[in-house]
Amino acid sequence: MDLHFSQPPSGIEWSDWHWQLAHAARDFSTVARYLGVPEDMFSADASTAERYPLLVTPYYLSLAHSPEASDPILRQCLPTQAETNQQKQLGGHPDALAEEANSPVPRLFHRYPDRVVFNTGNLCAVHCRHCLRKRDWEKCLPPPTDADMDAICKYLSAHSEIREVLISGGDPLMLPEECLQNIVERLSAVPSIEMLRFGSRVPCVLPQRVTPRLAAILASGKSAWLATHFNHPWELTKETAQATQILHRAGLSLVNQSVLLKGVNDDADTLAKLFTGLLKIHIKPYYLFHGDPIQGTMHFRTGLQKGLDIMNRLRGRISGMALPAFAFDLPGGAGKIRLQPEQLAEYDANGNPVFTSWDGKRVPYPD
Ligand SMILES: *Cc1c(COP(=O)(O)O)cnc(C)c1O
Ligand code: SF4
Repeated sequence: MDLHFSQPPSGIEWSDWHWQLAHAARDFSTVARYLGVPEDMFSADASTAERYPLLVTPYYLSLAHSPEASDPILRQCLPTQAETNQQKQLGGHPDALAEEANSPVPRLFHRYPDRVVFNTGNLCAVHCRHCLRKRDWEKCLPPPTDADMDAICKYLSAHSEIREVLISGGDPLMLPEECLQNIVERLSAVPSIEMLRFGSRVPCVLPQRVTPRLAAILASGKSAWLATHFNHPWELTKETAQATQILHRAGLSLVNQSVLLKGVNDDADTLAKLFTGLLKIHIKPYYLFHGDPIQGTMHFRTGLQKGLDIMNRLRGRISGMALPAFAFDLPGGAGKIRLQPEQLAEYDANGNPVFTSWDGKRVPYPD
């Protein structure tokens, strides 16, 4: 929808990420002004914004189709009292995946033998209401210092079984360019590191930030992949297509990780549009995550069965390349589980398995 500005931006300003960040909304009165609605529309949610601060770029806000609280874009970026009301009733843990407990060196989360997650700070362009690391918003986790990088590289060198670093945050694409360049150089200088995997919501919420210069930095070290985070087909715009093209031209490969969110994308038609739309701009849907039991995000959880039903409806109906793995993280840092809809129906009289095809036929398979 069109936003309201006291001084409307020129086209050049709108496509400049500096302008977008300088005009990001950090309170409800700015949001109300941009959306052209009365501020008291949000009065019930104001105290939630004190606990979990509001942050959204004008670009992302403009993707909403209406100022209703049920709008799938607004649901992802505007605080609601559901985030704070639930703490007693619904439970949830600030760090349900025990990332802090699996951290051998500050900022590294090590759960699998050959890959490690690196938290580069808590800068983001938008505060996604379903964020897994919401616990960090109140902390100030600055970009890594040289001493941090020394400790990290020492650990990686001593553990040559680690081949891949997942560069996460916050959002690593929000780091100052020199800092990002330094991270890429330092990690790539560790001989046993073969791949860097960036995780970023910037191509979705601030695609203007993806410049050829930024893409060149990302691609300047070891083999570079970038996992984007698109959750809804309205997030696929000409700006995101352009950002994606810049990243591809620089030599990055792109995959997408979505979160299944109640009231945002928990139906097969919405996800079919999202996944096929991603494929069209050469982003491979990689994971569809069931929401983790994180404090302040419980109202977005759908239940595993809902996700399985959706995956079953999508199976066969859209390109197999468009189908992500439906997955969730076990509590306590025990790792990911991929789930498939039930396809093995029974065994026939000859002992052969009988499968249910995508359109519901029972087909025996000569085992
Ligand atoms: C998700 C995750 C990974 C990456 O898992 P993939 O299945 O390779 O995408 C690695 N380390 C941690 C701690 C994770 O949570
Ligand atoms: S960009 Fe990522 S880290 Fe930042 S708030 Fe959104 S989900 Fe959380």
